[in-house]
Amino acid sequence: MLTIENLSTVYQSPSAKPVLAASDVNFSVPKGRLFTLLGPSGCGKTTTLRSIAGLERPTTGVITAGNRVVFSGDSKIFIAPNRRQFGMVFQSYAIWPHMSVFENAAFPLRVRSKRLPEKEIKDKVMKMLAAVSLDHLAERQATQLSGGQQQRLALARALVMEPELLLLDEPLSNLDAKLREKMRFELKKIQRELGITTIYVTHDQSEALALSHEIAVMNQGKIVQIGSPRDIYERPKTAFVADFIGSTNFIEGVIRDRSDHGYIVDSAIGSLAADRKDDLTVGTAVSMSIRPEDLRLSETPPTDTNHTVIQGTVSAKVFLGECIDFKIMVNEVELLARCHPSIRTPVGGTIYMSVDPLKCAILN
Ligand code: ADP
Ligand code: MG
Repeated sequence: MLTIENLSTVYQSPSAKPVLAASDVNFSVPKGRLFTLLGPSGCGKTTTLRSIAGLERPTTGVITAGNRVVFSGDSKIFIAPNRRQFGMVFQSYAIWPHMSVFENAAFPLRVRSKRLPEKEIKDKVMKMLAAVSLDHLAERQATQLSGGQQQRLALARALVMEPELLLLDEPLSNLDAKLREKMRFELKKIQRELGITTIYVTHDQSEALALSHEIAVMNQGKIVQIGSPRDIYERPKTAFVADFIGSTNFIEGVIRDRSDHGYIVDSAIGSLAADRKDDLTVGTAVSMSIRPEDLRLSETPPTDTNHTVIQGTVSAKVFLGECIDFKIMVNEVELLARCHPSIRTPVGGTIYMSVDPLKCAILN
């Protein structure tokens, strides 16, 4: 549905140094999928999204939507934003205050499809308002909506044209934490039900994990990893990805040998069986990542021995309700483990961690 090839955008200004905001960005999104650009502030997400929308003119690259090339740096193709006909909701969404909720959502239909019968407009708008749970507020003035309702209205207005592509730039950023979580579910439901191909931009990793079919993690203008939420979380390729998405333990080591699933790595906390698909040379120094919840704790030595077992001493613990965070010292290395509150080992006590080799990822 959407393909981005070798897209780069340099911002030139007479007063400042040029900024390489997007650097050789490549991805493609199949029809009906939700694809997320995730990364810290300033990494180039908005620049990439605005390039797809046609609001920014990239320096090089090709953007193809369906079988239409909407931008090509080489052959100087640039389709104007309004002729791309994508739906968009940006961080600062604009609701028209002098109009009702219904008229706000109907506006794009009235402007773009001039001769649409009133009945048809009504049907389309009410269907979309129902999809975002605002149908009961159709007659209300838009200014009388809460922030979250306005956000949903902006979404309904973008969806009413049934765009082939929906572009969302941090569309939940103005909501409080509770509402944001609720909207996450609603957005996901709407997107899946309508099957609209969507590009979603966020700096919020849990939002990205919750909503996406596929995630591209960006850093400093570049895509550093593309994969399913599970893939990105469980098999981060670099320390940046592992650290940006959730918290993790980094462990340095040297490859000693191959094993069934990957490699045996010698490290300060002992020998670890670790996962890696491609070829590495024995003797190579590597960095590994183990998620806090993948250090399985037990008060006595565990017996399921195809996992690596590490013995340590509890140096601190924090009760968090549904789980406990333990800080555990192993040979002067401090590890973070997250486990079920049933583990009662006190500070100073001995504890055992077993690690599934598949949960110990060798990073690039
Ligand atoms: P993000 O959306 O990931 O926070 P942006 O795409 O907005 O990142 O910005 C990427 C980089 O480009 C940043 O360094 C930002 O300062 C710079 N930038 C964005 N817009 C402009 C512009 N119009 N002119 C110059 N630099 C810009
Ligand atoms: Mg942005």
